[in-house]
Amino acid sequence: MLKKKIIVKIISFIIAATVVSTTVSFDTFAEWKQIGCIGDINNDRKANIADLILLSKHLLAQNALTNQNSYYVGNSNVKINDEENSNVNDYFQTADINQDGTIDAFDLVFLRRIIINGGSSSDVYKWEDDISLKEKLNVDKDTFEYDYVEGIKNFIADHYEKNMGYSVSKDCVISYNADRTVPGTFTGRDPVDIYLTTSHDSYWCKIVFQLSHEMTHYLVAEYRPDSDGYISWLEETICEAMSLYFLDVFYAEYENTELYSENSDYAKYFREYREEEMEAEMEKVTGLEYSLSTANLNALKIINETGMTHREYRTSEMHMLYSYITPKNIEGLLKYRNFSDMETLTLNTVAYRAAYPNNEAVDYICSVCEGIIKNTNK
Ligand SMILES: [Zn+2]
Repeated sequence: MLKKKIIVKIISFIIAATVVSTTVSFDTFAEWKQIGCIGDINNDRKANIADLILLSKHLLAQNALTNQNSYYVGNSNVKINDEENSNVNDYFQTADINQDGTIDAFDLVFLRRIIINGGSSSDVYKWEDDISLKEKLNVDKDTFEYDYVEGIKNFIADHYEKNMGYSVSKDCVISYNADRTVPGTFTGRDPVDIYLTTSHDSYWCKIVFQLSHEMTHYLVAEYRPDSDGYISWLEETICEAMSLYFLDVFYAEYENTELYSENSDYAKYFREYREEEMEAEMEKVTGLEYSLSTANLNALKIINETGMTHREYRTSEMHMLYSYITPKNIEGLLKYRNFSDMETLTLNTVAYRAAYPNNEAVDYICSVCEGIIKNTNK
């Protein structure tokens, strides 16, 4: 009897699946926000052959799928097409195609059928307030000398929001902290705390440099709020590269920032600062004890542990990564944790590349990881 009920549910699901649109759009549907679709097991918001391979591998090995193969929904209500499903936890399992509570051979059959029937699947929506990213980030103005941090934060947030393909739920407070020697982000807190170490915020370049780095940690962690998948060397490399990228964005789009009305002649300093920063870092890259290009797993562990004090071990690769960052490549980088392999402190490059096939930045960090794996197996 139970089996019959499931089959009926599945059949109606498949009929529904064939009529839904194939494009994934991220417009706001009242307060339901689309976060992806059923069958998206690699977290790229599409259900396709890459997901089918993942699911069949998992079923063959009888491994349970992890949080990395699901959507973080933080106890929100979820809706699939028009059907509301309030019975979810922090993570929503998209591999459970028929939503019967188990992931089994039935799901493989139905995922295969969906993909063969035209490559589209039911959209998944999450109940969400419609607050923009910049409003989630609050500058503690009393701690800064001037008010410009607000405008800088707004510009970074808007650029990220346009290009990251998902939204955040946690609030964040940005303040100046005189007791710290380096900036920091405390993602375990709610709201998240970002501390900057420059209060003289008329020095706009440095604010952009620090804040874009810290905001990147905040966005990565929001997507995977437990530290599941956190790899220090990799995340630092991504955050540092994003910092350089944002200096370029401020240079190129300066007229659209709130800073322009204060000083219309400042854009060139963003480029200068970025160039000087890169030169200064490259000067430290000589006679290194460790580097990512020669590292095996043992060396990588040291690079990982000293990631913040010995950035020079990663500088060459960080600069290369920076050169590959474009707006369309941002989302893939922010989701690196979905592909982490904690044993080797590297990434599951096959799945990562399959999820972001035209992402040069993802491709590059995959090649760095593959080099390390190769050195380890020598
Ligand atoms: Zn950092």
